Amino acid sequence: MAKNTTVEAARAEIERDFQAGYDLPVYVYKPWCKSCEICVALCPKRVLEMGEDRKPVVARPADCIQCRMCELHCPDLAVFVTKEKG
Ligand code: SF4
Ligand code: SF4
Repeated sequence: MAKNTTVEAARAEIERDFQAGYDLPVYVYKPWCKSCEICVALCPKRVLEMGEDRKPVVARPADCIQCRMCELHCPDLAVFVTKEKG
């Protein structure tokens, strides 16, 4: 978890993004991401790629199967699935 980013601040920022119309199957909260690439490596559908800022981007949203491998293995709780399966 990044040093100065509280859960409340994260929640507020994520809420703003969703109110602005965030519509991808996976969300990455960048301030908590340490660029370990675990989520990219474990995604069975290659949905995620590392961006130029060394944070994951949802490169192929249509391929996401909501398996939650990314969410369950992120050591910093920085990535989560936004849509339920089915
Ligand atoms: S939920 Fe599964 S398929 Fe979707 S991005 Fe995460 S690991 Fe990949
Ligand atoms: S597993 Fe978590 S910390 Fe590692 S790159 Fe993915 S979102 Fe960032």
